[in-house]
Amino acid sequence: MPEQRVVTRFAPSPTGYLHVGGARTALYAWLWSRKHGGEFHLRIEDTDRQRFMADAEEQIKDSLQWLGLDWDGPILRQSERLEKYRLYAEQLIKDGHAYVSDESPEETKALKEQWRNTAAKNGQPLRYRGRDRDLSYEPGRHVHFRWPDEPKRMVITYFEHPRKPWKVSVDPKAAPSAFEDFVLVKSDGYPTYNFAHIIDDKETGVTAVIRGDEFTSSLNKYYALYDALGWGRERPAFYHVPTILGPDKAKLSKRHGAADVRDYRAAGYLPEALANFVALIGWNPGGDREVFLDLKELMEVFDLSGVQRSPGVFDEEKLRWLNGEHIKALGVEALFRRAVAAGFWTVGDAAYDERVLGMSAERIRTLAELKGIREGYFYHRPKVTRKRLVGSENPQTVGVWLERVLRDLSGLPDVDWNAQRIENVLNDLRNELDLEPKQLYPVLRIAATDADRTPPLWDLFETLGKEETVARLDAAQSLVA
Ligand code: GLU
Repeated sequence: MPEQRVVTRFAPSPTGYLHVGGARTALYAWLWSRKHGGEFHLRIEDTDRQRFMADAEEQIKDSLQWLGLDWDGPILRQSERLEKYRLYAEQLIKDGHAYVSDESPEETKALKEQWRNTAAKNGQPLRYRGRDRDLSYEPGRHVHFRWPDEPKRMVITYFEHPRKPWKVSVDPKAAPSAFEDFVLVKSDGYPTYNFAHIIDDKETGVTAVIRGDEFTSSLNKYYALYDALGWGRERPAFYHVPTILGPDKAKLSKRHGAADVRDYRAAGYLPEALANFVALIGWNPGGDREVFLDLKELMEVFDLSGVQRSPGVFDEEKLRWLNGEHIKALGVEALFRRAVAAGFWTVGDAAYDERVLGMSAERIRTLAELKGIREGYFYHRPKVTRKRLVGSENPQTVGVWLERVLRDLSGLPDVDWNAQRIENVLNDLRNELDLEPKQLYPVLRIAATDADRTPPLWDLFETLGKEETVARLDAAQSLVA
């Protein structure tokens, strides 16, 4: 039997940029469709006019493209489809599944209050219903969905796991608010998310709805709407993926330092590393492997059945580690190209660039660190202060060390200026002076770079060259002379 065609979509609201959670949802939907040779659509859910941000759509598209997530067909914008939603709303009104109400927000609040009071007195479930006076639909009025007077308990599947679907039962007695007559069209003529997304998913042939599990509490409403629209048998499969938590186990937010995709880009993360990282939050590929170098590798192993039921935890340190692994895997040439393209490297001397990048690739975690290394000490002589140089040592002692290092390194013939020989010279000197590496080397490191962490000193000195190394050590020595 041919496999069913897979159509997924990503449906961000342009009320903010693409954050980590959104990126994960988009990635799962993209992987799932691409894996099955299906389609992946992009839909902009711009019906909340109050929170609308003019540049959000562009930024979201830019972030998706940067991550390598391409979409099929034109972008659907809900604001361009108001007439369509209105027609469906009218059909629902005609069929008795919806009604028009002219309550103002204040009245709704009061009605809800009143409902609560009387319902509580009469021992009824607290289930708000709009004021239904058989009005005709016109701008300025809202359209409410109409639940039956005695709604029945519903069993919904919020993750259509092929082997073990995740289900929940929703009981009007226990959760009356899940059976409120929710709004389909607002008084400004815009549909609600609850209404519009169902029409759009149906019209674009979506077969799998992959989204955050904050929608689970509304899923019974969507079931009811599908039935009311006559599409009960053609519902897409729902896959609500668990929330992402911060390290303190609270729902992930900016407070945890979690940023938008564009912020990670600006901080020097590689898109494939960020994709690798978000994919692993709450999804278990099976086995120990954690590094997936590109979307193709992820796609090969991705399966919705690996999505875990418990929330995933966002671990920034892991992201840094993964990014470092991806950087290492690039190789010097690609690292050079990517760093230049992303604005983290300025082309200088080709051979020197290659040596510096080759030496740095193993130890950096972000491309931004390259910029610091380049500007900090490879292409510029750092301005070292006496205080930094001396640290907790005695200035005179430091002066003596530097003098001896200068003498021995200057004595190394130019043809022998290589990491191995430099290391030997420094080791011999340490033995002579009876010094530990951790006494002498930090001083030399600061003297040459003003940085606390660098590649090994001998590699560094080799790359800087004899003349430059000696000049820097000499300048440092004059601070303590
Ligand atoms: N606009 C909704 C959101 O941004 C989309 C939810 C869905 O994928 O259906 O959360």
